[in-house]
Amino acid sequence: MMELAQEKLNIIYGYQKFREGQERLIYQILNKQSSLAIMPTGSGKSLCYQIPALILDGVTVVVTPLISLMKDQVDSLKHLGIEATYINSTLTSTEEKERLHGLKRQFYKLVYVAPERLAQAKFIDITKRLNISLVAIDEAHCLSQWGHDFRPSYRKIPDWIQQLKEKPTILALTATATNKVKNDLMSHLYLDDDQLVSTGYARSNLTLTVLKNVERVSYVLKYLKANRHSSGILYSTTRKDVEMLYHQLKKEGLSVTYYHGGLSEAERQMNQEKFLFDEASIMIATNAFGMGINKSNVRFIIHYQLPRTIEAYYQEAGRAGRDGEESECILLFSPQDIRTQQYLIEQSNQDPDRQAQEYENLQKMIGYCHTDACLSEYILRYFGESSSKPCGKCYNCKTQGQLIDRTKEAQIILSTIKRLRERYGKTMIAQVVVGSSNQKVKQWNLDDVSTYGLLNSWSLKETTSFIDYLIAEQFLKPTNSSYPVLELTNKALYVLKGQQKIEQRIRENIESVSEDDDIFLILKEKRRQLAKEKQLPPYYIFS
Ligand code: ADP
Ligand code: MG
Repeated sequence: MMELAQEKLNIIYGYQKFREGQERLIYQILNKQSSLAIMPTGSGKSLCYQIPALILDGVTVVVTPLISLMKDQVDSLKHLGIEATYINSTLTSTEEKERLHGLKRQFYKLVYVAPERLAQAKFIDITKRLNISLVAIDEAHCLSQWGHDFRPSYRKIPDWIQQLKEKPTILALTATATNKVKNDLMSHLYLDDDQLVSTGYARSNLTLTVLKNVERVSYVLKYLKANRHSSGILYSTTRKDVEMLYHQLKKEGLSVTYYHGGLSEAERQMNQEKFLFDEASIMIATNAFGMGINKSNVRFIIHYQLPRTIEAYYQEAGRAGRDGEESECILLFSPQDIRTQQYLIEQSNQDPDRQAQEYENLQKMIGYCHTDACLSEYILRYFGESSSKPCGKCYNCKTQGQLIDRTKEAQIILSTIKRLRERYGKTMIAQVVVGSSNQKVKQWNLDDVSTYGLLNSWSLKETTSFIDYLIAEQFLKPTNSSYPVLELTNKALYVLKGQQKIEQRIRENIESVSEDDDIFLILKEKRRQLAKEKQLPPYYIFS
């Protein structure tokens, strides 16, 4: 059967040979072995269910979260002469009827649906009797509540599968899954370890950069002007910033369009197409944009602010260079972004477990901005790939900066945490060492805390930044709770004993924070307002 698969690849798709992972997955599927595929963005996951769909007798149902992209995918399949269709809410009732009828007759080889559809009585009724040989679950991380994009409707997939006449083969596909997400997916889909195909997370054609405290608008302007002829995406956290950037950059004569959850369906569709068909070279968007987008020539992804998790970041950044060509992923970081994300976490989740997890994820993301080590390695480690080596081309690998001995400062902070018996979080510890006159700090009997004020030459901001650095380098570990408390790791004990030096590489002037605290004040005010209204102001609905 693999010869047949090879033939389809050559004749229908016109590709020479399979890419890493594709062949094994197709082999497993053709042998009715359900599988989980973890393969980077752009590695060709779609082929892994499309080719088996052509070879197996029955229908292949493809579950995908994005209605707006079903049409594109189906159109390109039809172009290749494959009978495919989609069933979603954009159809007229006549169209829907026709397609359901076609489905009943097994006219289609591939049918794309959104997960919500699987709970619809009419759909269940038809599919119950059908010969469904394969169910492909695209963007499968949406099924895990530990994933960065959990969609409760994905949980309906296993129930729907249960009701089918015969158990189909399942192929779940994703580009981003931490170990926790992976295990969650495997248990929901009843898969074993030997059913997993993972080609790893490394994307060697991406060059990663983190820039701290740059003047963002002017940086972005300069970059975009210098890269006028390339296509790229500029991600921002809030709708408001997306619109601000859109108007600013447009005024500068750049070829831009924009996308966020506040636009109408028609506007989103139109702007997305402008970008996809190179009518506009730069897309400015919130994280609502991009899942499943297959634009191969994206040369750069700039994050205007800190994203919330490494998974979200890597997925967004991974939209660059799907054609394998060299591409850049730049993250602009400023400490105030942390507060914005904390605020969003506070507002978006009631469940304390979930919130604690989100804080932990955010801390890992902050760690990415503070680490001295290779950025690519940091990400691969996060996904559980421990054997990776420095990439040699990311910003951290490329720039030397200056090594500064920070052992003394680290000792002050670490011993403060120890003396206070590891019961406090970042801000409190920073306040103690800089000698803050904050009432809460003053209330204590500071005779016990001999390190009070020992770092008074540092600002609170510098100190919390340095604590973030100590976390990133694993001298400290925040506990897994809504209000994380800092604990010392074994590595920290060596520093306290004077057996290990801490040298921080300073690449730019971290101390000169260019933006002020306005956002913080706005957030505080919003919070007060929210407590009154108990609802989210539109500005902060961020996607
Ligand atoms: P993913 O879903 O993993 O992000 P896609 O399935 O959208 O990636 O594929 C990305 C691109 O790679 C598509 O343009 C696809 O046609 C192309 N592609 C897939 N497999 C191969 C292959 N074996 N040889 C060449 N190109 C391929
Ligand atoms: Mg895909």
